Amino acid sequence: PSVGSVPSTPGCSKVPTPTAPPQHRVVMIGAPGVGKSTLITQFMTSEYMCAYDDSPAASSSLRSGWMQCSSRSHGNDEGGAERSVSVVLEGEEAELVFIHLQDITQAIAREGHADGWVVVYSISDRESFKSASTALGKVWSLGHVTHRAVILVGNKTDLERTRVVNTAEGRTLATTYECKFIEVSAGFDHNVDELLVGILTQIRLKQHAQTG
Ligand code: GDP
Ligand code: MG
Repeated sequence: PSVGSVPSTPGCSKVPTPTAPPQHRVVMIGAPGVGKSTLITQFMTSEYMCAYDDSPAASSSLRSGWMQCSSRSHGNDEGGAERSVSVVLEGEEAELVFIHLQDITQAIAREGHADGWVVVYSISDRESFKSASTALGKVWSLGHVTHRAVILVGNKTDLERTRVVNTAEGRTLATTYECKFIEVSAGFDHNVDELLVGILTQIRLKQHAQTG
């Protein structure tokens, strides 16, 4: 299927999937406190959460036309436990399994084959940006940027008053390591849906490129 160029279908609804939807593992990496858990929780409670009915939430997701989700969690989010979100993007369903880890070395050892790598820092925490830079460098040196989705995320944009990492620095780091970049606020649900869509879009683009 062509990826990225299919126009969204207004009012598209969930259709029964004959086979299990593809499952993509996505590692969320970042220093303690940058908001990884909050981001994943925000994915779960997205306004695009699919109720598969005519409830206001479902109607609002249908109006947006291109994405719906449902979610499932497995245990708590500490120690790398998994939480999955089912997303319908451009008419195709996929299950994103988020694995939340702090240590990049452990992440690479455990989840080296993950389809998505989301590296998170806080715009109000310089040390977390340094950690993100180190982690991203390791992901890059594995050659992951060629065939996997790699996204740098500057979280907590609501803390503009205490910002210490400016947007240009984030963008420059992402350019250096050839990955995508977005600033979000997990706490205030700003750009969180855009990030969720971006993760799946990048995974599809990279897999499409890989298979030719
Ligand atoms: P983790 O250690 O990376 O999983 O971080 P958490 O998700 O546990 O978040 C750490 C703290 O930052 C918590 O108190 C969150 O409420 C707070 N937090 C997370 N995201 C945001 C955000 O976007 N803005 C603000 N102001 N606080 C946030
Ligand atoms: Mg956490």
